Amino acid sequence: EERQLVAGVGRDKTPDLELLGEITQLNITLEKKQRELEDAYARLEQLAVTDQVTGLYNRHHFFTVVQHFLEESRRYGLPLSCLMLDLDNFKSVNDHYGHIFGDYVLKMLAERFRNNTRKSDLVARYGGEEFVLVTPSTDIRTAQVLGERIRAAVEREPFTLGNVTANVTVSVGISGTELITKGPFDYLLDSSDRALYIAKHGGRNRVVIYSPETGAAATQQ
Ligand code: GH3
Ligand code: MG
Ligand code: MG
Repeated sequence: EERQLVAGVGRDKTPDLELLGEITQLNITLEKKQRELEDAYARLEQLAVTDQVTGLYNRHHFFTVVQHFLEESRRYGLPLSCLMLDLDNFKSVNDHYGHIFGDYVLKMLAERFRNNTRKSDLVARYGGEEFVLVTPSTDIRTAQVLGERIRAAVEREPFTLGNVTANVTVSVGISGTELITKGPFDYLLDSSDRALYIAKHGGRNRVVIYSPETGAAATQQ
């Protein structure tokens, strides 16, 4: 016997209540499954862009979106800064206190980064114990203040897990669109990295601004 699903109406043109009930139930189930699928997809998407240790964006996502940040900055004529951060002597922190503690430091460090940046900033884990921070609408002087604030926030309070406590410091290299006016984002990244190199060689735990003339200048600690 054939039933007419579409209208839920029986052969005799009276509503088939049993069938209507079934359809309603199916619709409810379908909507629920659809929501579950959307949630799962959102979680998957979040997972794909996130570094699992720190909860910050991963390197892949960083490169996916950073070019857009630079294009926006150029379109509106607003400065954009790039800060490279690398933990000082982190190998010895791992060697002394173990990898678990090292991972914990990375996790808590990310928290300090988040507490000192804006929602519109792009904060990513660039490598093992290396981070990159891209700040829209931020000139080089403001970036320097920000870099110094983060450096101090890392130095100020030791990291504690159980009965282990360690002091950790970070070196920061900064560049920006006022210094690197043309080219792909890689140029900004390279110059920040060069400033970071100078910060390391200058004794670590300091902020260095890239300078086109000397390779880097304006050291701060
Ligand atoms: P520098 O001040 O010159 O940066 O010295 P460093 O020891 O930090 O630099 P180096 O590049 O020699 O070593 C980086 C160390 O960071 C190696 C490794 O022990 C540690 N590290 C990198 N990734 C992770 C990670 O995911 N978890 C933990 N626990 N440690 C990591
Ligand atoms: Mg390091
Ligand atoms: Mg490193």
